[in-house]
Amino acid sequence: MTVSAQQEQELLQRVPTGLLINGEWVEASSGKTLPVYDPATGKELLRIQDGNSDDALKALTAADEAQAEWALTAPRERAEILRRAFDIVMERAEDFALLMTLEMGKPLAEARGEVNYGAEFLRWFSEETVRHYGRYGNTPESKLTMIVRHKPVGPSLLVTPWNFPLAMATRKVGPAVASGSTMVLKPAQLTPLTSQYFAQAMLDAGLPAGVLNVVSGSSASAISGPLLKDRRLRKLSFTGSTPVGRRLMADAAENVLRTSMELGGNAPLIVFDDADLDKAVQGAMDAKLRNMGEACTAANRILVHEDVADAFQSKFAEAMRARKVGRGTEPDVNVGPIIDDKAREDVHGLVTEAVDAGAKVVTGGQKVEGEGYFYEPTVLSVLEDSPILKQEIFGPVAPVVKFKDEAHAIRLANASEYGLAAYIFTENHNRALRVADQIEFGLIGFNAGVISNAAAPFGGVKHSGLGREGGAEGIEEYTTVQYIGMPNP
Ligand code: NAD
Repeated sequence: MTVSAQQEQELLQRVPTGLLINGEWVEASSGKTLPVYDPATGKELLRIQDGNSDDALKALTAADEAQAEWALTAPRERAEILRRAFDIVMERAEDFALLMTLEMGKPLAEARGEVNYGAEFLRWFSEETVRHYGRYGNTPESKLTMIVRHKPVGPSLLVTPWNFPLAMATRKVGPAVASGSTMVLKPAQLTPLTSQYFAQAMLDAGLPAGVLNVVSGSSASAISGPLLKDRRLRKLSFTGSTPVGRRLMADAAENVLRTSMELGGNAPLIVFDDADLDKAVQGAMDAKLRNMGEACTAANRILVHEDVADAFQSKFAEAMRARKVGRGTEPDVNVGPIIDDKAREDVHGLVTEAVDAGAKVVTGGQKVEGEGYFYEPTVLSVLEDSPILKQEIFGPVAPVVKFKDEAHAIRLANASEYGLAAYIFTENHNRALRVADQIEFGLIGFNAGVISNAAAPFGGVKHSGLGREGGAEGIEEYTTVQYIGMPNP
């Protein structure tokens, strides 16, 4: 069913447009506003308050002042707030889904999937809150009893990207709330509306004033800069590109801050000659086209054994051609627009450069004419030295490369600065584990193209980052350890 313009307007009117500071939605001190656009039309959706350095510092003051009391709340109390937040997000699931489709472009069905995935971080960390144990024991010499406790890390700056507007926020806010830390959330300037709406859900769930503060703004560095220098801040959790992450890590080092870094990726998807090709094509579609390829986990290097490469490539191209491109609110659309014109130009630039270097276009390869920033689902047949294999693509473009044997596949997979996600398609379990042992990636899909789950640790190695979000590991990112030693009687 097509969403009506009236439904869209009614939803947009319910989105808080202020900055959330100390439990109140307030105006930006500059008096300026930040426009948010629909990438399917290029038209403005809504304007929200445009926060700056002064607002960021006010938000940190609120977080700092709320910290001591928040740290002392009972874990059960924090768990129940998160559980209520989960219920509220699920009750408002259709609103969240439509909001993400409007500001980010992903098709409604995928946006609904993100609501389920994103909300699960609230439920998962609600359950983790009361099961986060320390240690009690004797020292080896039996002279001291030791108590090892986890304490909240303290006021945290959470910086999120535009590609998963709800899940990237819940994946940070969930464990921060669970640990008893307070926070300033800075959403991506391209997609802040979902975070604004989510923050209201957290307030409605009973989160005390000052625990979660939200400062959206047109200048990311104006917001993060003064906070990273401020001694009251204790932690930076960043999800975004590797170049920005690297710069923020350097700033965080000056203040000796704890950091969690979820950065870029360039996932290989390896199809062995013993793979079930239909499963592999489905996996490649999931891993490449989800979110229009605008995912850190997107399969950007499809490595296929030479004996099955032609068969795989023709089935894959057929599946790509069958996808319907359009505004995500339209029925049956399964590929939305790219986030903005510059991002689409970047994707097209990579395709053009690859073709100039000898790549063959199997399907797609062009921008879609008309309003919005659409790009055709594209399959390229490339050689292993193609420039397109060296960087994140962030669009619906899949380069396919042939390999000769297992050692060759492993070498190609590891030939990247990134180490976030990788996918292995084979019917041989021993081979899957053997390859997993030899490739340097934090997440591995075995005969699966989508493996993210709130209960599983998400994160990368090499230039894909540090730390893990989700799983039992996720809460550790927001805690610090205290050891108390006392003489045995
Ligand atoms: P980005 O690095 O441009 O921006 C991410 C966030 O950082 C945004 O909130 C942005 O406003 C802010 N930012 C940008 N420049 C800044 C600066 N100089 N100082 C302070 N903050 C700044 O990334 P993006 O384009 O929003 O997102 C896409 C990137 O995110 C891709 O590289 C993708 O792989 C990565 N990503 C990683 C994960 C993961 O979990 N590893 C998940 C999603 C996206």
